[in-house]
Amino acid sequence: MASEQGDRDRPWGPDPAGGWSGQLGAGRLWFTGRVGGVSAPPFATLNLSRHVRDLPAAVAENRRRAAIRGAPTADAVWGQLIHGTNVAWLGPEAATGPGPVADGLLTAQAGLTIAMTFADCVPIWLASRAAPVGGLLHAGWRGTVRGIARAGVEALHAGGVPPDSLEAVIGPSIGPCCYEVGSDVVDAVAALDLGPGLVDARRHLDLWEANRRLLHGAGVADERIVVTGLCTACHPEWFFSHRREGGRTGRNGGFWRMDPA
Ligand SMILES: [Zn+2]
Repeated sequence: MASEQGDRDRPWGPDPAGGWSGQLGAGRLWFTGRVGGVSAPPFATLNLSRHVRDLPAAVAENRRRAAIRGAPTADAVWGQLIHGTNVAWLGPEAATGPGPVADGLLTAQAGLTIAMTFADCVPIWLASRAAPVGGLLHAGWRGTVRGIARAGVEALHAGGVPPDSLEAVIGPSIGPCCYEVGSDVVDAVAALDLGPGLVDARRHLDLWEANRRLLHGAGVADERIVVTGLCTACHPEWFFSHRREGGRTGRNGGFWRMDPA
């Protein structure tokens, strides 16, 4: 059901060392899946979250292994995710480790790594084509209907980064192929007034398209929004999926970072 690749013009794709990575604006994004770690089921194997009852030593080892393969886990600021619309700017003083309670993290600071964990929710990377600035958003259905995508674009705009300078990547997450939702979610999405086609006859919600329309509505050009089309639930060999695993599973990792000049 899911396509294997996103934008053909962009070096986004399976990383030779495992996981996915690509260039975005002045930075680089990464997405790690479940391959290559040490955790036992149901967190097998590369769980990066400390909040899912996995062994702390296993998570530490997984983060170390992910770093060896390129994902900058070691000095990351990890967003504390609550399915809200708070977007935080991280400056040079940002400490590594647990970051602010926010579902959006942005920075203009080279050498600072933004990190979040995911297991079906939608990672949305934003970066400017004109300035060294960017970050990452976390959008499950709640964050989507509350407008985290728009909040991210607006926070960048408030920081002097106009929406028409942005590019975005909507990353691996649960796709319309697998995401059946209840009528409460259908109603909440309908209330966004984003147009038809977001929920099909089986009540499968397309979070990718909803967030794409939200980004576009906030001023990001259509041709600058890449939807990777990788469904976490369709690919048990690559990704943790909260829905597929019935809630007991590990977490994939999303990262964004600009290297110091
Ligand atoms: Zn799927």
